Amino acid sequence: MTRGAPVDAKRAQAASATDAGTETEAETEKETEAPRPPGMSAAQLARALAAFETIVGIPYVCRGGAALAAYRDPFAPLSNDAMFAPCAALLPANVDEIRAILRVANAARVPLWTVSTGRNFAYGGAAPRLAGSVVLDLQRLNRILDVDERLAWALVEPGVSYFDLHAHLRERGLALWVDPPASGWGSVIGNTLERGFGYTAYGDHAASQCGMEIVLANGDVVRTGMGALDTGTAWTLYKPGHGPSFDALFTQSNYGIVTKMGLWLMPAPSAYVIGEIQFAREDDLGAIVDTLRGLQLSGTIAQHAVIEGAIRRAAGLAPRARWYDGEGAMPEAAVARLQRELDIGRWNLHYALYGEADVIELQRRTVERAFAAVPGARCAARRYAGNEEPQGGGDRNMAGIPSMSAFRMLDWLDWLGGEGAHVDFSPLCPADGRDALRQYALVKARAAEYGFDYYGGFTAAGRHLHHVFAAIFPRAPHPQAARAGDLLRALMSDARAAGYGVYRSHLLYMDYAAAQYSFNDGALLRLAETVKDALDPQGVLSPGKQGVWPAAWRGQRGYT
Ligand code: ADP
Repeated sequence: MTRGAPVDAKRAQAASATDAGTETEAETEKETEAPRPPGMSAAQLARALAAFETIVGIPYVCRGGAALAAYRDPFAPLSNDAMFAPCAALLPANVDEIRAILRVANAARVPLWTVSTGRNFAYGGAAPRLAGSVVLDLQRLNRILDVDERLAWALVEPGVSYFDLHAHLRERGLALWVDPPASGWGSVIGNTLERGFGYTAYGDHAASQCGMEIVLANGDVVRTGMGALDTGTAWTLYKPGHGPSFDALFTQSNYGIVTKMGLWLMPAPSAYVIGEIQFAREDDLGAIVDTLRGLQLSGTIAQHAVIEGAIRRAAGLAPRARWYDGEGAMPEAAVARLQRELDIGRWNLHYALYGEADVIELQRRTVERAFAAVPGARCAARRYAGNEEPQGGGDRNMAGIPSMSAFRMLDWLDWLGGEGAHVDFSPLCPADGRDALRQYALVKARAAEYGFDYYGGFTAAGRHLHHVFAAIFPRAPHPQAARAGDLLRALMSDARAAGYGVYRSHLLYMDYAAAQYSFNDGALLRLAETVKDALDPQGVLSPGKQGVWPAAWRGQRGYT
């Protein structure tokens, strides 16, 4: 039964179509289905949960109903999501409670799956890789501990979202910007640990991170870098400190529970320009990428510019049905009509320039001159004073204002009373026009074969591009959900054969993705699991995360 845990209302709302805070039949069913950790008896589990209740308090242990349903993956690319169902969720209030939880988990060998705000939608949400795990939800550790305007950094806890941090900077009138990812409701720590990215000059979140506090599986609390000086002054300023540097070890990993993190913030510029350049033809992509690379490597464009395909650009402007309502991928003729009627490009480059108004004006001219070499390129630019706010979602992200622009894709299809979902295929692409065209052709053809539109684009970061393709589908149990999962697997296999790897993956494909990094018979994964066993001998922290399994659960690898 629901224990009345005060789970974040927004998450519960997003997770369940039927969730109105009351228990429905389906939810009660989910509770009886809630799996136990492998090898654990009902009595052992009951004892562990009772111990957790004494640590965090009864209201902060979710055992079922609507509250626990919110920890399942609403976007599961499967006909049902039982494979990733948690058995309970805990909401500790502080580091001491986390350490006490770890003592119980180690003694009873309870697998814990750590999330900060659990909004990792399209990659699994708050759901664990190993069914029966207990979700360790850190949303109650939500303090913004410090912000320094002069040196431009913040120190935050896991429950702090991009919306929270942005609002805090505004309330205090600080001349600092956050770098929001496409969905501002997620946490700064969760996104950074997943190596998410945004759209300003601080778009590489892992690179802008500096300093961490981590609780290890044995309960030890570590501060990395300069944070290890008891009276330190530079924890959030200089990442390495003295000796080996560990911060990166805790990104996309299951080696510890991150309870504090420093991040660098962008000093608010005095002015900025947001430019959009439209390109008419599909094969312009190669020239766009090659031109953009030159502009980024020279420092003219110093942020993460985005190249959106026509369909992704159209979502949010009008529904798909206006041009095509049939089965399968949108035919070329319909895409051409959409492009014409919405007056958008086949590819649409979105970039920003920050700084003194006259300097960025010169840079804008440099950018437009460079792209004038692509026949038919159409340039537009909007100029803003530093304190002005743009209106559109994409523009707002580039102005350091969190939005929920990623969700506009769910308005693209008519769900006929149901709800939409998506999973993302995210291969890394060299910033070379030939690679971009090759990846695009590969993904578009395979997506069409499985009945999906090419809803995608590239985020450019100098030497590499993040190619992100979203397979959009009606939520399970609709058969298209499982087809999206099959498509993702096929795409990963295609990409691997062509020499490309993904930078992130949904729970369903973590093992498959890890296996593709196979140099020297999987030496990288062997190293990761050697470290895992040393740091977490009972294997209690997020088993299976990113394909890294502790010895205790290694037999669970699979589902590929
Ligand atoms: P979001 O910020 O989008 O809500 P999540 O909280 O879902 O992101 O976190 C994404 C993933 O990052 C989680 O599935 C987990 O693997 C990892 N993670 C998140 N927060 C922590 C943390 N505080 N410590 C360790 N790993 C974490």
